[in-house]
Amino acid sequence: MAIDISCPQCGEKDNLAGVASANSVSMACDECGESWQRLLLKRCSSCGGDDLQTIPLAIIEKSRGTQLSVVGTRPVDLCSVCDAAVLRHYHDHRPNPLMPADLPTVGEEHLNG
Ligand SMILES: [Zn+2]
Ligand SMILES: [Zn+2]
Repeated sequence: MAIDISCPQCGEKDNLAGVASANSVSMACDECGESWQRLLLKRCSSCGGDDLQTIPLAIIEKSRGTQLSVVGTRPVDLCSVCDAAVLRHYHDHRPNPLMPADLPTVGEEHLNG
């Protein structure tokens, strides 16, 4: 991973230690003992862009035979570039959560091939 990090105190680039948590990394410099927090910037895994939107994605479960019901949502990060169509769809249907593309099948036969 090519991350350009340097100690804000002494400029050391190599002798650094980082402990990652959910949204940040606790960095420490082994040269001078400086420690600091570095916020993690989420990036699109496809294009590398950082213009991401966190939107709720519906969690769908089958209930009682053929009925599908939304049992909750979980946040997903979508890229404004790569997922533009999905985001537009979501914004058109707000405040409904985004429906997952792969819904559980409801008793339909799978076609071969
Ligand atoms: Zn340092
Ligand atoms: Zn992207």
